[in-house]
Amino acid sequence: MEKKSGSEEDKGKVCKRCKESYRASSNTSFSCRFHPSFFVCRRHDDQKRYYELGPNDPPYAAKFYDCCGAEDPEASGCTTSFHVLYDDD
Ligand SMILES: [Zn+2]
Ligand SMILES: [Zn+2]
Repeated sequence: MEKKSGSEEDKGKVCKRCKESYRASSNTSFSCRFHPSFFVCRRHDDQKRYYELGPNDPPYAAKFYDCCGAEDPEASGCTTSFHVLYDDD
């Protein structure tokens, strides 16, 4: 393996989406784990998926990822894809 100093390919990059550092050479469609939707604050029983949090609702009743329903903000992503370059767009 040759190393060219200052080569963009060989430098660690930081993913725009998951904020992890990675190397372009090892960026595969499984490298980046993330949630395609936001962590939202509303009730998530099946009938009332889009219920707005009311004044008497406990706040914990309504926090989850909109994509997969994970209630832990630290839950690992439900989707994988390529890492995203900061200067991609
Ligand atoms: Zn998710
Ligand atoms: Zn990533």
